[in-house]
Amino acid sequence: VGCLYVVSTPIGNLNDISSRCLETLRSVDVIAAEDTRQTRKLLQHFNIQKTQFSLHQHNSLERVPKLMDLFHRGKSVALVCDAGTPCISDPGHAIVEICHKNRIPVYPIPGACALTVALSVCGFPIPPFTFYGFLPVKGAERQRLVKEIANTRHVVALYEAPHRLIRTLNDLVQQGLSDRRILVARELTKMYEELHWSTVASAMEYFDTDKVKGELVLILDRWNVSTTAEDKKKMFAAEDILKAMI
Ligand code: SAM
Repeated sequence: VGCLYVVSTPIGNLNDISSRCLETLRSVDVIAAEDTRQTRKLLQHFNIQKTQFSLHQHNSLERVPKLMDLFHRGKSVALVCDAGTPCISDPGHAIVEICHKNRIPVYPIPGACALTVALSVCGFPIPPFTFYGFLPVKGAERQRLVKEIANTRHVVALYEAPHRLIRTLNDLVQQGLSDRRILVARELTKMYEELHWSTVASAMEYFDTDKVKGELVLILDRWNVSTTAEDKKKMFAAEDILKAMI
């Protein structure tokens, strides 16, 4: 029986690719890619020639018989998405579940994921955090989720498209989150990478333009941050040391 490798690829900077990722892409029999044209660029960059087929949101279940046939013939398949980690706001989870149910071994080949990259630099205490991926574009479910976010005490992570940033920030303000700290992480690992910390209201002013470009992760700080006197003392001491060094 074959196996499935769930392979993470870079989210911008191609140097973030791991040697294990390259080894896996070179050694598998076939690559199941979200967008074969996108993956072809990655393969060409690393000089890898490999048969691909498409496995995206709309055809993943139709691909099951083909995949099962490959596995029963002992073939290995690498699942990749356009950038980052498959199955995180990207297609693939149904295939992984079917593999588990059919005792096809599944191996993770870890690497970049915009969610964890943004969390790693936000400076907010984690855990706990809640990841909502992309909010629905409109409708009652979007409103329900925005209210839920306003009421959670967790750090909250969202993916957002640039042209919807202001609307999402505005919805958060409408729910009373004007003063909540937020990191807008833009173009992570790419040439125009930008990490912008502010309150939600100030982020609206800063990004108040139709010209926001690139890919975005939003990280909202937890609610009701009650820093203890002891924590404050430690933070001030650390700041003093930094000031003395500069
Ligand atoms: N599976 C991917 C991952 O592991 O990050 C995420 C796929 S999702 C379809 C694409 C979204 O991820 C983008 O709209 C953006 O919100 C976020 N994203 C991906 N790459 C990014 C980057 N370099 N900088 C900031 N956000 C990014």
